[in-house]
Amino acid sequence: MSTPVIEEKGKGIITAGPKVPSGMPIVIAVPKELTPGEQRVATVPEVVQKLTKSGYEVRIEHDAGTHAYYPDSLFTAAGAKIASGRTELLDGTRIVLRVQPPTVAEVDQLAKGTIVIGFMNATNNLEAIARMRDRNITAFALELVPRITRAQSMDALSSQATAAGYTAAILGADNCPKFLPMLTTAAGTIRPATVLILGAGVAGLMAIATAKRLGAIVEAYDVRRAAGEQVRSLGAKFLELEINAEGQGGYARELTPEEKAQEQQMVSAAVARADIVITTAAIPGRRAPLLVTKETVATMRPGAVIVDLAAESGGNCEFTQAGKTVREFGVTIIGPQNLPARVPFHSSQMYAKNLQSFLALLVDKDGVLVQEFSDEILVASLLVHAGEVRHGPTRDLLSGGKP
Ligand code: NAD
Repeated sequence: MSTPVIEEKGKGIITAGPKVPSGMPIVIAVPKELTPGEQRVATVPEVVQKLTKSGYEVRIEHDAGTHAYYPDSLFTAAGAKIASGRTELLDGTRIVLRVQPPTVAEVDQLAKGTIVIGFMNATNNLEAIARMRDRNITAFALELVPRITRAQSMDALSSQATAAGYTAAILGADNCPKFLPMLTTAAGTIRPATVLILGAGVAGLMAIATAKRLGAIVEAYDVRRAAGEQVRSLGAKFLELEINAEGQGGYARELTPEEKAQEQQMVSAAVARADIVITTAAIPGRRAPLLVTKETVATMRPGAVIVDLAAESGGNCEFTQAGKTVREFGVTIIGPQNLPARVPFHSSQMYAKNLQSFLALLVDKDGVLVQEFSDEILVASLLVHAGEVRHGPTRDLLSGGKP
């Protein structure tokens, strides 16, 4: 492979790195995910078929798709080569597709100039980010893809939040001692369960839709008033407050102390009457807002269930423990981690399509790797490149400052 010529030519224009010699296919490698509990894989046979048709050589590490129910044989049939180990997988590879960020050891396996695409979760992976910088690896972080219309097909945050919202509703129903739908039977009439969703973003809306399909009465709340219309269109009741905390880019802003008190009061009353509470409230880059206090849990019915999707960012419920299920005052509080990995077949399929769309930005119309990262989506999601961490907050964290 030729030596990378990496220099920044001007604002917003970043040269991509080593050229793939003409006539040689771009090699894409998909390693087996090693993070404990990760069942997903970064590509699926359907996408491999399209990539190989477009001229890429796709290599899949042996067993990479097994946990998502995509066996090696399906990848082979789709045109991929199965690599028995990392050396075989990565030799001559230009692009690596991943779900979870690489570990330091995995970064050390990559050749200089390799492009890695996946979730990078920089805050929790500073050592690996620094190693990618020092080893001249290029990393695109899918969580940094801007939420603009043109980028919708590559929005892996949304596709995986969809999987998480669905799974949260199923988990809630599975742990609830009641039926969700109303039943009129010879053995009597059963009242439908009430499900409350706090935070009606992508995951929350999917949880609402799923709970509705299961027949529950669904109520939802979000600090963004715009969410009200989406909630109502799904047939759920939107709990309104005077607050409208729509922040930048469609995300929520943090509430003032007075607004927080107002919110707590209304939320507490709704939580107390719910059989299942699914919390999904998040503010980018901050600890998840506390919505369900210990005192509020004490007012819930025994047997009620809380599924806290914000468990990994501090939790929306004061009792939540990430990765654990606890029982307090007879209420089951579930703090799930990596919910999309519980539906790995479809979450991998959606993720793989996100990556396929993203890859299209990296090649020109002749299928040649672009020489400049000038597209705004590439610029925004470029985390590390040419020996530099390009994402300001991550750079600040690495230099010991605040993001
Ligand atoms: P998120 O995961 O950051 O947060 C989840 C939800 O929690 C949000 O709806 C947020 O408003 C809510 N929240 C925050 N603080 C709260 C509080 N104190 N009480 C109650 N709710 C609270 O959000 P997300 O699911 O990633 O989506 C955020 C926004 O981005 C939404 O408006 C969504 O429609 C929009 N979006 C746009 C695109 C696009 O245009 N391509 C794609 C995806 C999402």
